[in-house]
Formats: sequence, C-alpha cells, structure tokens
Amino acid sequence: MATVTRQIKDLRTPIICVMGHVDHGKTSMLDKIRGTTVTDIEAGEITQHIGATEVPLYTIESLCKGVLPGNIEVPGLLFIDTPGHHAFTTLRSRGGALSDLAVLVIDIIDGFQPQTDEALKILKQYKTPFIIAANKIDRIPGWRVNPSFSFTKTFESQPDNVKNALDNRIYDLAGKLSAYGFSADRYDRIRDFTRTIGIVPISARTGEGIPDLLMVLVGLAQKFLEKNLKLHVTGPGVGTVLEVKEDKGLGYSIDTIIYDGEIRTGDTIVIGGKEKPIVTKVRALLKPMPNRELRIVEKFDHVDRVTASAGVKILASDLDKAMAGSHLRVAREGMLNALIKEIESEIERAKIVTDET
Ligand code: GDP
Repeated sequence: MATVTRQIKDLRTPIICVMGHVDHGKTSMLDKIRGTTVTDIEAGEITQHIGATEVPLYTIESLCKGVLPGNIEVPGLLFIDTPGHHAFTTLRSRGGALSDLAVLVIDIIDGFQPQTDEALKILKQYKTPFIIAANKIDRIPGWRVNPSFSFTKTFESQPDNVKNALDNRIYDLAGKLSAYGFSADRYDRIRDFTRTIGIVPISARTGEGIPDLLMVLVGLAQKFLEKNLKLHVTGPGVGTVLEVKEDKGLGYSIDTIIYDGEIRTGDTIVIGGKEKPIVTKVRALLKPMPNRELRIVEKFDHVDRVTASAGVKILASDLDKAMAGSHLRVAREGMLNALIKEIESEIERAKIVTDET
C-alpha cells in the first residue's frame, strides 16, 4: 500500500497530443489555455514542426475556477501540438504514438474533415485514449457568449433552440464516431470515460468550455497514469527527438520529449544518427518556461535536470547527424554498449522501412 502512495505522488506529467483538421482551432485552444497568442506569430515555419508546451497545475487550477476536484496529483499537462497539414501525417503519427492521451479538435460547424479521419485512424492504431473538443460553439446561430464560463454554465443560459442546435451537432459527431467503432457522447452525460469518448463543447475564442476540457483531461490523465505505472520520473531518461536544429550561437541542438525517467547535464546519451548511433554528453538542458512553446526559442530556463514528461532542448557535440524521430536514451553505469546495440537495430529497422517505401 505504501508503495502505491509513493508512486502516485511521483506521477509523470502526462503527454497530451492535440490533433485535428487545419483551422479547426488547435492553436487557438492551446493559446487560450497557456495565455499566449501563438496563432499570431505562427504564419510561417513553426506550424511545420511538432510543438510542446508544459502547462503547470496552477495554470489549470486558475482556468478551472473551482471545478477541479481536490485529489489531482499530476504536476500539469504536457501538450504536444502536431502540424495540421496533410503532408505531415508521418510527423503526426509520431506525435500520436508518444502521447498518453489525445484531444481531437473538431470545428462543430465544419464537422468531420480529411485530417479528422486521419487522426482517428492514428488514435485507433496506437490505441491512444482521447476526447473530442467540439470547438467554435460561439458560431452556432443565436449563441449567447459568456466568456470563460464552464460549458455547463453557459449552456444553461442558452435559449432552447440554441441548446437543440448544439445537441444536434453533437449527435452528428457521435454518429460519425460510431462508424469508427467508438461510442461517444457529450461529456457531462458520461459515467464511464473508459468506454465512451467524451465530447466537450468549447469555444477557443471565448474560452467557454475550457474549464470543462481541462477538468476532463486532468481527471482522465490521472486515472490512466495511476493504472499504467510503467513509466516514471526517476531512472535513466528515455525520449524522442522531435527536431534537429542549428541555432545561431548555440550550434546544433535537439528538441526532444523526455517521456520516461530523468536526464541531467553531464549525462552520456545515445541517439539515432543518420548512419550510426551518436554517443555524446549533455552540455546543457534548456527548458521552455511554463506555458511557453518549445519551438519558440527566447524563453528558456537553463536547468541541471529534467524529469518526465517534458519538452527540452539539449545541447551537445556531434548532434549535426542526429535524426528526428529517433530515440534518445540516457546511459548510466554499464548500460552504454547495450544501448548502442539497441539504437543500432532501430536505425537498421528505419532503413528497411525507408527502402520499402
Ligand atoms: P489550427 O489550424 O487548428 O491551429 O486553427 P487555429 O487555431 O489557427 O484557428 C483557425 C481559425 O479559426 C482562426 O482564424 C481562429 O481565430 C478561428 N477560431 C479558432 N477557434 C475559434 C472559436 O472557438 N470560435 C471562432 N469563432 N473562431 C475560432
């Protein structure tokens, strides 16, 4: 019993992957949660990369204004924002593979679109639990805006015809989901979230429903993490390389997600390289400030240690040949040769897949 309590206290930050069709509101939703305006600066290159933002529990508590249950032990949520464009399916499936939970954003007016289908196929393939954020409820004709209200509160204040219009759209989404074999319903009508997919109506523009979305996510994440204690915040770190970058003044660095264990400056790490595994020493760990994007370079904290799950930029030598998508492993005492072999066989497998396609 004592062990279980200790483990629950050490819960990892769960990884939440945000997916959905382009323009359905992924970035706006994250902006509303972290209090930023990435949508404004996103015009160019950063949409093409996977982003990561750590949203601490205090931010979630302040957005949830009393609707959050008192027994929350996850330290926060790490949101992974996957590119919306069709050409980035591979990147997106990688995002889907490394997440504990996903939010599939669907524009409630626009409904199912090609990338919605794609995301569902990926979630099904990787058996990732997910919820639906039915976004843009403020665009339902006649909607009365109550900025930042919980969904249940704002729904109460709507006229009957608006309530019906919203519910019809939810039924429609649930119908489409059933074609994929998923049973789904409006979240506040669900008893067992492990059997039924929760649909949370939100507006990323007005903030309505954001408290409900976070409450459901935190509750579900905690439940899944308590059950699945295979990954920890201690022990040698394991992660995925999202991107290899050359930054002015910093040299080559890698943006990574550490999803298991911990990594410290001075650690020896093994990463997949273009030809062979790269063995190098961590020179510096740059962690984005809370509520800030890993892709946006200015706001980093230099830290000595990072625990799972976290997005972190790693500086080390020999990173120019590192491969995005490969694994990263921290080698502690006596582990190095085995890890090199493991990463070698990963590179071989990747080569076979590339040759076949
Ligand atoms: P993404 O491509 O999925 O990241 O979508 P964005 O967040 O960039 O949103 C696409 C467009 O929809 C932008 O013009 C947003 O301002 C708009 N938008 C996003 N969420 C909402 C919403 O809840 N209500 C309304 N009315 N517009 C929204």
